[in-house]
Amino acid sequence: EGSPERHSKKKVVAVVGGGLVGALNACFFAKRGFDVEVFETREDIRQAKIVKGRSINLALSHRGRQALKHVGMEEKIVSQGIPMHARMIHSLSGKQSPIPYGKKGQVNLIILSQNTSLLFAEYVIYKIRPVCHVAAVSHRPDGSTEEVEADLIVGCDGAFSAIRKQFLRRSRFNYSQTYIPHGYMELTMPPINGEFAMKPNYLHIWPRNTFMMIALPNMDKTFTCTLFMPFEEFEKITTGDEVIEFFQKYFPDTIPLIGADALRRDYFRLPAQAMVSVKCSPYHIGDKCVLMGDAAHAVVPFYGQGMNAGFEDCIVFDEIMDQFNAVLPEYTRVRVPDDHAIADLAMYNYIEMRAHVNSKWFLFRKHVDNFLHFLMPRAIIPLYTMVTFTRTRYHEAVERWHWQDKVINRGLLFSAAGAVLGGSYVLIKNPPDINKLISPAEKMWNRLVALRTP
Ligand code: FAD
Repeated sequence: EGSPERHSKKKVVAVVGGGLVGALNACFFAKRGFDVEVFETREDIRQAKIVKGRSINLALSHRGRQALKHVGMEEKIVSQGIPMHARMIHSLSGKQSPIPYGKKGQVNLIILSQNTSLLFAEYVIYKIRPVCHVAAVSHRPDGSTEEVEADLIVGCDGAFSAIRKQFLRRSRFNYSQTYIPHGYMELTMPPINGEFAMKPNYLHIWPRNTFMMIALPNMDKTFTCTLFMPFEEFEKITTGDEVIEFFQKYFPDTIPLIGADALRRDYFRLPAQAMVSVKCSPYHIGDKCVLMGDAAHAVVPFYGQGMNAGFEDCIVFDEIMDQFNAVLPEYTRVRVPDDHAIADLAMYNYIEMRAHVNSKWFLFRKHVDNFLHFLMPRAIIPLYTMVTFTRTRYHEAVERWHWQDKVINRGLLFSAAGAVLGGSYVLIKNPPDINKLISPAEKMWNRLVALRTP
């Protein structure tokens, strides 16, 4: 960072983007003894009077923690977070039902607040107009420019990456982006008498089919509520009264907790934000430039894995550096299928979180999966557990999930068929009074129909 070592013989790594992934990556490269320079468009947020942007708090899970651990930062970050044990589903009537993430005592998620990224901010420096290959052109706040020689340019400049734009000019670079019809808006739920307004160690969810709201706790005892809804629905609400009417209809239990006046005001404070899913490949150009984090794979936020996947990119790259000479092509080979798998899973969860958590069949299957995992912890592992609590490669987790699903569904079918056959045998051997039978049979049928409802 402008130090005399910059002119030393050490290999120079230019990390473009000092967000979560860029800052962590800088630590990884620095730990390996590279001369690291980080280029960041935004000013140093430690010195800024007003921090632009949003206060998104993030769920940090196993993959992200492992990456932090690698550079000795795990405890520092985790101690600033709040553990989450389960989801808490809020029904329309205000009833709250917890759905645990994994087994009791399993390592849980930690919420990071935006402040946590301040720990990384010492790497934040100038603006940059990045150019691939050996040189990056830096535009300093005074308008001057500088050619920066770098042995490796690492593009960690987020979902709208300027580095990735350089890739787009090249042949055989695959790229796709999808905006989902939903946007998101953040609202704050203040503490009540100095305490959290709801139980803090949960991801609170209000699933309402085509839209939903979630709330995550912050260290200052507030909750950040994020409303996910189609843009056209956001736009339909144009007055404070309409905001209250909408919340009264769908999230009545939150009105006294957020506060009617705050709702009327805050709904119009900032417009709803878009969410994009980006897939591309390859992640590298020659031996000079590589993409990581959202620059390589922006995912929709419904698996809580965007940052975790980006952090895991850093650890995978580091592991490959230990084993291969041609690091960049190997990184693309290993990482693309995994990042594409988590992008697809996040999209799948986009539907699951809104609709399926209300479904009896979904809840039943979750219980069956968790029970089988309890009985056979190595043979059956729920998808969520593999993604969130292990470093199983994302694409392997998906393959295993499909296999397990097939096996469990077949098992359930055979068990049901076995129960029917067994029951029939008993009935034939000991015919009961037909009048007593009708009501329980009817009940069982209704229950089966209910369980199959998606
Ligand atoms: P960014 O955080 O976008 O950082 C990129 C940085 O590059 C920025 O600082 C930017 O200023 C800088 N930059 C951009 N262009 C240039 C340039 N030309 N030159 C220099 N610098 C530049 N992930 C989780 O793991 N768990 C969650 O619970 C979770 N929840 C989320 C909730 C929401 C609503 C959203 C939108 C995302 C969520 N994510 C979550 C995803 C997570 O926020 C991102 O995956 C993560 O921020 C990606 O980090 P990054 O460093 O790759 O990109």
